[in-house]
Amino acid sequence: MLTVKTIAGARAAVARLRVERHCIGLVPTMGALHEGHLSLVRAAKAACDAVVATIFVNPTQFAPGEDFSTYPRRFEADCALLEAEGVDVVFAPEAAEMYPAGASTIVEVEEISDRLDGLSRPGHPRGVATVVAKLFNIVQPDKAFFGQKDAAQVAVLRHMVRDQNYNLELVVCPTVRETDGLAMSSRNHYLSADERRSALVLSRTLRHIEARIAAGVVESAPLIDAGLAVLAEEPEIRLDYLRIVDPETLEDVADVSAGALVAVAAAVGPARLIDNVLIPPR
Ligand code: AMP
Repeated sequence: MLTVKTIAGARAAVARLRVERHCIGLVPTMGALHEGHLSLVRAAKAACDAVVATIFVNPTQFAPGEDFSTYPRRFEADCALLEAEGVDVVFAPEAAEMYPAGASTIVEVEEISDRLDGLSRPGHPRGVATVVAKLFNIVQPDKAFFGQKDAAQVAVLRHMVRDQNYNLELVVCPTVRETDGLAMSSRNHYLSADERRSALVLSRTLRHIEARIAAGVVESAPLIDAGLAVLAEEPEIRLDYLRIVDPETLEDVADVSAGALVAVAAAVGPARLIDNVLIPPR
């Protein structure tokens, strides 16, 4: 496995891969890797001839006061995990390599960026779109792998790929969970034992809503009410949103018959956690 820190190094490494490998897969991450990230790597390995993973804690997707400086950084351990999965190239640039002095171009996916997480983290979708566009331009992958766990990010990136004519396939992989249901996240490391127990209310809420849907409820309003009742069991969590939306546009839907995304976000202790389930069309 080759580890490169510069854009020129990444381009050269990908050019060498291209000589013999037809399909190149890209797995962008911020590191502190867990089984969720590794599931993307495995999907990329299965679907592509070569895999490039990136490790970059992207400063432009964090607002002042968010956890950029405390975000877990475990470069050596991450590289060992990626090597064990058979990744070909790790691109791990410093911030100054990605954003040299004077960098002023941003990628803004309008409207959709103001929905779900974009409402409470206004600069976040723009930061994600900007860095992912740069990674697409540097690596020029045939397929790029993202997790359904970040459903709003997926919707924004789908729009970006379509609107900007990126010549690649965006592959979305299912959310990987701990055995008790908690969606895996690098931010779970912030949780104390008590907070981790409280955090389970997020997946419990989603499961409860899924069960109500299985029992025949299709209108969003009673489903949200049922979910809020479950969330109220853990008064110490600070709810950001519980919404039922169209997974493509992130706009609220009145009922789930045509398929929907049920998404929840809440602060638990020092961590802001998100989770969601996709409801298939009836
Ligand atoms: P991050 O390092 O948090 O930016 O995540 C990098 C990629 O891993 C994103 O595409 C995430 O959606 C994906 N990811 C994070 N957690 C999970 C999970 N529990 N299951 C599946 N994918 C995940």
